[in-house]
Amino acid sequence: MNPFSRIQIETGDITQSDCDAIVNAANTSLLGGGGVDGAIHKAAGPELLAYCKTLGGCKTGEAKSSPGYNLKARHVIHTVGPVWKGGGSNENFLLESCYRNSLLAAKELSVKSIAFPGISTGAYGFPMEAAASIALKSTLRTLFFNEIPQKVVFFCFDDKAREIYDITLDKLKAIQRAVFSIHGKVQGVFFRKFTQEKAHQLNLSGYVMNQKDGSVFCEAEGAEPDLEKFYEWLHTGSPGSNVDHVTIDREDPVFYNGFEIRFLSR
Ligand code: ADP
Repeated sequence: MNPFSRIQIETGDITQSDCDAIVNAANTSLLGGGGVDGAIHKAAGPELLAYCKTLGGCKTGEAKSSPGYNLKARHVIHTVGPVWKGGGSNENFLLESCYRNSLLAAKELSVKSIAFPGISTGAYGFPMEAAASIALKSTLRTLFFNEIPQKVVFFCFDDKAREIYDITLDKLKAIQRAVFSIHGKVQGVFFRKFTQEKAHQLNLSGYVMNQKDGSVFCEAEGAEPDLEKFYEWLHTGSPGSNVDHVTIDREDPVFYNGFEIRFLSR
């Protein structure tokens, strides 16, 4: 199933979630704290802390599970987000690991539905826009490769966070990818360099690669109108008249890395 259709965004208190599992933004001691951690321990009751004492802490980016006790959720998955230190201390990777490892822990427990708070976006100071993007991308990717959990709910604590999640998800839905093969006298004429520059100008991401047979392979990701412009530009023989023809390698929509890829067709 399309990973996008397995994602929901809600506003509210995660302790009230009726998902099978809720994720706790814990600290490395797993012995409770403020914010969402405090709220989860309060709602679950003292048995949760007693159980967490047996877990031996948790490293940043990893996840450990416990029962949910008085919560509606049967399980709590405790994960430790990175403290934001400006972005140069592996924060993105660690936050991504939190989502991936929590989802894999949920899979181990055969959990059908799981609710996430905005890990690291409170006391740990991770900027909300960047955190929402990592949360959604990492989840989409993991869901793409795993059928369980079936459903993931992102709990936003306020309207501002909700708006950011909604906008980020819409942007991700709009991303498309196109794969081109470019033939002609395209090697040794700075073709790769010009193509990269053009892609950059059009706000596309992706890569350009020389093939052994003298052709060039290019994969680009971005909004459809920009991909269309890029295709036109490749087709009309940029730079100069080195290009004989451009082919789009596949036309059927497929899923890749959690994104729907609608190859442009002509
Ligand atoms: P961290 O230390 O990982 O930053 P915090 O608990 O301080 O964790 O905050 C994480 C996010 O959870 C913040 O965006 C905060 O607004 C939100 N939050 C706090 N309490 C709740 C709750 N009961 N339900 C859902 N989200 C919550």
